[in-house]
Amino acid sequence: MARKVLVLGEVRDGSLRNVSFEAIAAGKTVAEGGEVIGVLAGKEVSALGQEMIQYGADKVIVVEHDKLDQYTSDGYSQALMAVIDQEKPEGIIFGHTALGKDLSPKLASKLSTGLISDATDLEEAGGNLVFTRPIYSGKAFEKKIVTDGLIFATIRPNNIEPLAKDESRSGDVTSLSVDITDLRTIIKDVVRKASEGVDLSEAKVIIAGGRGVKSEDGFEPLKELADVLGGAVGASRGACDADYCDYSLQIGQTGKVVTPDLYIACGISGAIQHLAGMSNSKVIVAINKDPEANIFNVADYGIVGDLFEVVPMLTEEFKKLKV
Ligand code: FAD
Repeated sequence: MARKVLVLGEVRDGSLRNVSFEAIAAGKTVAEGGEVIGVLAGKEVSALGQEMIQYGADKVIVVEHDKLDQYTSDGYSQALMAVIDQEKPEGIIFGHTALGKDLSPKLASKLSTGLISDATDLEEAGGNLVFTRPIYSGKAFEKKIVTDGLIFATIRPNNIEPLAKDESRSGDVTSLSVDITDLRTIIKDVVRKASEGVDLSEAKVIIAGGRGVKSEDGFEPLKELADVLGGAVGASRGACDADYCDYSLQIGQTGKVVTPDLYIACGISGAIQHLAGMSNSKVIVAINKDPEANIFNVADYGIVGDLFEVVPMLTEEFKKLKV
């Protein structure tokens, strides 16, 4: 059944986040040959419309307004509801990001519809669209289908492969004028933490340190390895609690959920709460002095050894491969 599907493009620092392209790919599957419409909301974002088309959107609708410069649920829900009223889609796909997690339940409630959140896979099976999503902190997966009405889903970053960029694709980028009113939240200023390098939630490679790194300086060899591999540095709560690093790096049940292609856990014991945030990584490498450490139970490759010896050796070897 061909459907019309809306896909939200998420903009950060003037660029589309990768999850937007993954959402377009998911949107194509939901559309089943129908139309995929990209939606951009913000201030001066229309120039990004063509990129959504190059990644597979058929057309893009842009809602620009000074009050959409910073994300607020009130502002974005007014913008999105206006597009939904105009287009009457049969499917809606957002990234399962901080923005998507905030906005999607609000819209689902306004639309009196259900929501499949945090989908990690989507396939056509037996005439149904089947969404897969983790439950019980990633210990099990459930399969969901929508039997009737609007299909509204958020997809976990780094799980659904985007389509290849096709620069020859073209399509309409049109603007929709929406009166944004009654914002209950006004963002006066955004103060960013000085962050080095790649965003954890979208990183393809993560080098994570635990209490085994022993100090703030102990993270240095991990940062060097991350630099060589073009990855990001993450941490266990043990490392954050010990003040070796900032809580923004925490991965796990009460931290970020990540699914990189490669996760290298250094000096992390593998507590269940940590595994909840990283066990769906595609390849897991664990470096730990203790051969009995639980992290080895989820690792694809395990290195029993001192991280301060092993990590610099890995960095040197990867440097050679890059030459
Ligand atoms: P440890 O368990 O102390 O492990 C350190 C490891 O380093 C050991 O295995 C040791 O053998 C190894 N090691 C030491 N020195 C070296 C060396 N030189 N070389 C190699 N290996 C070495 N934790 C999270 O990570 N994320 C969460 O989101 C999270 N949420 C939680 C929520 C709740 C409600 C609770 C109760 C706990 C939560 N925790 C979370 C904490 C979790 O239970 C663990 O305490 C924490 O993950 C342990 O961190 P760690 O593995 O770094 O430290």
